[in-house]
Amino acid sequence: MSDDIRAKIGLRPVINVSGTMTSLGASIVVPQAVDAMASILPQFVEINDLQRKASAVISRLTGGEAGFVTASCSSGISLAVAGCITGNNLLAIERLPDITPEKNEVIVQMGHVVSYGAPVDQAIRLAGGKVVLIGQATSTHRFHMENAINEQTAAAVYVVSHHVVDYGLLHLAEFVEIAHAKGVPVIVDAASEYDLKLFLAQGADVVLYSGHKFLGGPTSGIVAGTKEHVRHAFLQNMGIGRGMKVGKESIYGVMAALEAWETRDHAGIRERETSYLNLWKETLSGRPGVTALIEPDPTNNPLDRMRVIISPPEAHITAWDLAAALRSGSPPIIVRDHEVEHHYFYLDPCNLHPGQEVIVANRLKEELDKARASNEVIATPLENLSRHRFDGLLNWPD
Ligand SMILES: *Cc1c(COP(=O)(O)O)cnc(C)c1O
Repeated sequence: MSDDIRAKIGLRPVINVSGTMTSLGASIVVPQAVDAMASILPQFVEINDLQRKASAVISRLTGGEAGFVTASCSSGISLAVAGCITGNNLLAIERLPDITPEKNEVIVQMGHVVSYGAPVDQAIRLAGGKVVLIGQATSTHRFHMENAINEQTAAAVYVVSHHVVDYGLLHLAEFVEIAHAKGVPVIVDAASEYDLKLFLAQGADVVLYSGHKFLGGPTSGIVAGTKEHVRHAFLQNMGIGRGMKVGKESIYGVMAALEAWETRDHAGIRERETSYLNLWKETLSGRPGVTALIEPDPTNNPLDRMRVIISPPEAHITAWDLAAALRSGSPPIIVRDHEVEHHYFYLDPCNLHPGQEVIVANRLKEELDKARASNEVIATPLENLSRHRFDGLLNWPD
């Protein structure tokens, strides 16, 4: 693309088949949001009134009584927790993260304490919350939660993500039932979920989404839920929320992205994604040591991905060396490799510009042909991945 800004500023023209990643710039922002942001940037507005307008849109799409826009889903977690700790006590809001009120314990299932790029529990601690872990990594039972709730309990946080342990834990409906029986509000982190209504419908008091993931909005977070809880979270803008603030462009950009979501051709997009997956399946079929499976999203989003399983003795390369070759090639292709030690990675079609699927297919072909032609198996020791994971970052900006 000749108008590709990346070449002008000396950035690599990466192709994103990894999904919605902060480290790659999240998602393709929809044109409606781009236009909305450009139109409001030169104007002054009364921010709280603009947030009122956002509240109405968020309310319509989520079924919540109210909502507002913040910097990220991560800040949404902190603000929602802070709201449960302080209520509308303005002095307490100024004093956070030191606690004046007595309630600051926040219940989380151990199997939900994951990293989305930073630890879930840190977003809670930032708000003055004291994380109370219940259960074990792969099991939580009712008795764990029932016994953890006491007078100090301010909230319970539930995380919906492909990262969390997906068996043996309390389901949201039961989590809500136990919390509500003791008057504890439930906050759901649904950052990457397509369903804007489900979690509030299941009884959550507050739900948090990322504006910049599937919605294709600007970098932002959406807080939705009961009027009281949303208001208490919103009041944190006078406190810890200040460092998490969004400007007019993000608020208005999210409103436009939400409205575009309502009218988006979801079926058409799904069809296009399926055609990409079919192309890759064709490209990979019959190749020695390569198995390509089309799999549904683990949290039931209407999205399929391709799992590419590599058997090094036949393919002559490991899954992680193939991922690295694609990443360092031209153009750089970033695959979804969270679980690469199991000898597979995923190809996620949801953030491709039309035409890029062919480049991905060709690059896969090239690298696999090259590996097959080599006499040795290309196999960097797996330990090197973790040993060197932060080398580049620790030397930043060099
Ligand atoms: C991405 C993600 C977050 C963080 O969202 P941001 O809007 O980038 O802060 C939080 N929780 C989960 C489950 C996520 O997937």
